[in-house]
Amino acid sequence: MTRLHAASTARSADWRLSELIYPVRVEAIGSPTPIQALPTLSRVLCGPQLYVKRDDAIGAGMGGNKTRKLEFLVADALAQGCNRLVTLGGPQSNHCRQTAIFAAKHGLCCDLVLAGEAPGSSLGNLLIDDLLGARLHFAGNRPREEVAAELIRAWQAGGERPYLIPLGGSTGLGALGYVRAMAEALEQIRDQQLDIDTMVVASSSAGTQAGLVLGAALFGYSGRILGISIDAPERKLRRWISDIALQAAALLRRTGAVGALEIEVDARYLGGGYAVVGSLERDAIRTMAETEGLLLDPVYTGRAMGALIDLIGKGAFDKHQNVLFWHTGGAPALSAFAERLMDGSPCHG
Ligand SMILES: *Cc1c(COP(=O)(O)O)cnc(C)c1O
Repeated sequence: MTRLHAASTARSADWRLSELIYPVRVEAIGSPTPIQALPTLSRVLCGPQLYVKRDDAIGAGMGGNKTRKLEFLVADALAQGCNRLVTLGGPQSNHCRQTAIFAAKHGLCCDLVLAGEAPGSSLGNLLIDDLLGARLHFAGNRPREEVAAELIRAWQAGGERPYLIPLGGSTGLGALGYVRAMAEALEQIRDQQLDIDTMVVASSSAGTQAGLVLGAALFGYSGRILGISIDAPERKLRRWISDIALQAAALLRRTGAVGALEIEVDARYLGGGYAVVGSLERDAIRTMAETEGLLLDPVYTGRAMGALIDLIGKGAFDKHQNVLFWHTGGAPALSAFAERLMDGSPCHG
């Protein structure tokens, strides 16, 4: 396998982090999220040296990747004079929870359109959405987009100014949050003299990986960015990533600089489907918690780490490699999946 040297790449002529002019954003992240080594997990797996980028530890909104996207999206909503945020997701959507936090913070009303029927009890993110004063609309068997569009029309008819944030905040504008995140990470990699040759990220509505991939092209990072698909077949996810990355590049006036984006997706870990917790996710969550004291989430990072552990077991990496896992958050959803997560645990058997 070719060794790639991110740290030396980061000092190359392509290193122009501060030159980009981004659209306005509302600051929510504060200082850079840490990159930490995972020495015990690396030893237990007998694989490459593992590191984690702690986007779960973003201060605002109980952490998570959507906060980086929402810095740009909410700034746009405010610039347009909107007074409500409308967005959609699964019942345990981390994106919806983070949107509700921005809304509360900026004095906006918040409508969340969630898939399926209202569950009997409010656990995990649903509880937090409720505490934040968001209005929950369960779409039942109708498409969420349709329900959201209907809401928007109704609010507009009533003289309100709603702002629609598409699924996962995955638009060109939202993806800029991960272009910035890539710049942030590359700066840390350079300063800490790490030699990260592979990054691994959970990929679903594609905005996160799109931002990372575009950032890699803009800043000259030549390592792999491996997206673990959470719920979409490979071709679909790759197309979304490329579309969103190009939209983001257009906003930065850098379409010419992009060339061929390196998009790598592994869609072999879809398991029982979206938000269906199986042994892959459960074991990964327990392994990470027991070795490093870090909490992954049941839907995204549990699956992506499960995939990484499986790939390491199959010899996909050698011991000299350095792999950075993007912890994109989601642990606030854990309690809603308690039954599936406790299954088969030796402590509760
Ligand atoms: C939404 C989400 C992802 C996936 O990010 P996309 O930009 O939708 O691909 C990964 N991890 C967590 C915890 C998320 O909430």
